[in-house]
Amino acid sequence: MAILPILKFPEPLLKEKSAPVESVTPEISGVIDDLLDTMRASPGGVGISAPQVGVLRRIVAVDVSASKRGSREENHGLLVLINPEILAKGGRQVVREGCMSIPDYTANIERAQWVLVDAVDREGKQVILESVGFEAVAIQHEVDHLDGILFLDRVSSVKTDLFRRKKYR
Ligand code: ZN
Repeated sequence: MAILPILKFPEPLLKEKSAPVESVTPEISGVIDDLLDTMRASPGGVGISAPQVGVLRRIVAVDVSASKRGSREENHGLLVLINPEILAKGGRQVVREGCMSIPDYTANIERAQWVLVDAVDREGKQVILESVGFEAVAIQHEVDHLDGILFLDRVSSVKTDLFRRKKYR
């Protein structure tokens, strides 16, 4: 287990599409352990994706249960999603998002209010889950990383929706 360095924008690897995981091998389990260590080591980190640590595989982790907003809403606690696919989504919400790979900015981003996700869990079992609110935002943000999409790509107006911040906290 290890805390890995997070790749920062404009690192080109962040724009790559990640490859599906074929089976949950010990190597993949090790990547997941490192992802969780790295996410927990980051203040305010509610999600992480494998490409952010330079591993171009379709693995994300989300845990909004300790965050201010997430803890007030329905959530699944820690989620490890392998090969996640958003089967359906609906509604809309605009939430201020940050990203460990873009430490200097936050932005108001429009996302679906709820998502229905198909994925494989750490044990290699298929899971289908519905997520709403802040957790649904985190899932959409992390799944974007697997396709090389950053929140900067989804800002509709750089002038009014993008904000500089001094510290990632
Ligand atoms: Zn991110």
